[in-house]
Amino acid sequence: MSRGASGNVSGMPGDLSTYRRKRDFTRTPEPAGALAGTDGQPRFVVQRHRASRLHYDLRFEIGGVLVSWAVPKGPTLDPEARRLAMHVEDHPVDYLLFEGVIPSGEYGGGDVIVWDTGTWEPVHTEDPAAAVADGELHVEVHGQKLRGRLVLVRRGSSADGKEWMLLHKHDEHAAIGWDPEQHPVSVLTGRTNDDVLADPDWEWRTDLPADRAGVSLMPSPLPDDALDELAAMGTAGTWEVFGRSLKVTNLDKVLFPARTDEAGVTKRELLAYAARIAPAALPYLQGRPVNLHRYPNGADEKGFWHKQRPGHAPDWLTGWDNPDADRGETTTYIVPDEPAALVWMANFGALEWHPWTSRTEAPHEPTYALIDLDPGTETSWDDLLVLARLHRTALDHLGVTGRAKVTGRRGIQIWIPIVAGYTFDDTRAWVEQVSRTVGKVLPDLVSWKWEVKARGGLARLDYTQNAINKTLVAPYSPRAGAGAPVSVPIGWDELDDPDLRPDRWTIRTVLDRVESLGDPFRVLLRGAQQLPELT
Ligand code: MN
Repeated sequence: MSRGASGNVSGMPGDLSTYRRKRDFTRTPEPAGALAGTDGQPRFVVQRHRASRLHYDLRFEIGGVLVSWAVPKGPTLDPEARRLAMHVEDHPVDYLLFEGVIPSGEYGGGDVIVWDTGTWEPVHTEDPAAAVADGELHVEVHGQKLRGRLVLVRRGSSADGKEWMLLHKHDEHAAIGWDPEQHPVSVLTGRTNDDVLADPDWEWRTDLPADRAGVSLMPSPLPDDALDELAAMGTAGTWEVFGRSLKVTNLDKVLFPARTDEAGVTKRELLAYAARIAPAALPYLQGRPVNLHRYPNGADEKGFWHKQRPGHAPDWLTGWDNPDADRGETTTYIVPDEPAALVWMANFGALEWHPWTSRTEAPHEPTYALIDLDPGTETSWDDLLVLARLHRTALDHLGVTGRAKVTGRRGIQIWIPIVAGYTFDDTRAWVEQVSRTVGKVLPDLVSWKWEVKARGGLARLDYTQNAINKTLVAPYSPRAGAGAPVSVPIGWDELDDPDLRPDRWTIRTVLDRVESLGDPFRVLLRGAQQLPELT
């Protein structure tokens, strides 16, 4: 963990709120030395660790290591509580901000979140290592959850000296009845242990030296020099990117018309975006046939669907022969199986990427149920948000995990990952039933008419997209519109953000968002579920 997160959290504890969920798409990991606290203030961390038993690891930076106690019930602000704290072996400082999983079978196997962290000061001593050796340590902690005076005292009755007591003094931070389990999320990422277990960013490998034990499970970012190379290129050339040599052309052509007060977006920018977003976007495209919406002359002119893998495509670009293709239909589809494929598609003039809902190995089995909230001409953005929130409530009530994304145009879609074995008839029927239930609550907003003209400008809850070879735009795909808007996954709480807009983010702005907040859809990648029976 010394890599990656370290450089971003070297400020005061307050900075951690902005740290959230840094994902190394573009930045080079910094060395472990960056972990020293601001102004030399030593740090502490509390990790909520679900191993064979749940416990909280309380660790103080002392003399170049993390002096550690395992607290089964967790630290508390409650001055009336006395908590057992088992003095355990020192940990390397590299472990300070580790959040992720420890492989099962290894010591401490399980999942870990950074439950709290901050700085601390020894009290009544200049030599905390000696205080620990003497069996009594008083500290003032400045965390986000833990504040005030903590005392650790070795129990006289402890035969091996490992049993200590932890307590919080009666001070202005004390809070009677305060329970750490009521504050269960990571101060780094806002995630619970369950969230981390479902989608870990890091693995701690106890078989490796400490400075290399934090192994990233995230895809590798694009190296900076690849971007520099593209920026320095003339109007065409060969770009070495993600281990592939790609012929790229017409780099200065404006493919997306300008938004007010901005310059039009060039093909060079689109290629750079495709490469930079590839680690985040690829999981939603990989292994799936993709329908490309091409605009070789730019978004101002009419585009067309392109499905057939062209003969001039490079050998490494995966193709898939559709066994069900009728005469005259697309026979061989493009399957974007590696990051360079996104760059190839962008260079091919594909401004939009629309993957199938099913994978090539089981084209008749969808892996997502999709809810498409399709606004009509009279549907306001607020109306659409009302519909989206009602779907959120419905899914929550059903115990179903889904996530919303804005389309980059006017709509919102909800993606629900499902286990193998469903047919498109199944998903279509299920989504229809959910949406009709929602629609009954808001009959003034929703039309079930097939023809656009017959809808009277009302929104459509379009369950019919749950069909083979029908597609919705991919997460992080650009859209062929002014300023190059992007279809962007959002957290459910963002439906309540007054600044949310369906086309809020563009290829110029979304990378910062993904870098600082991570990808709200990631939880879907390992979240395949049964669709509950609806009654
Ligand atoms: Mn532990």
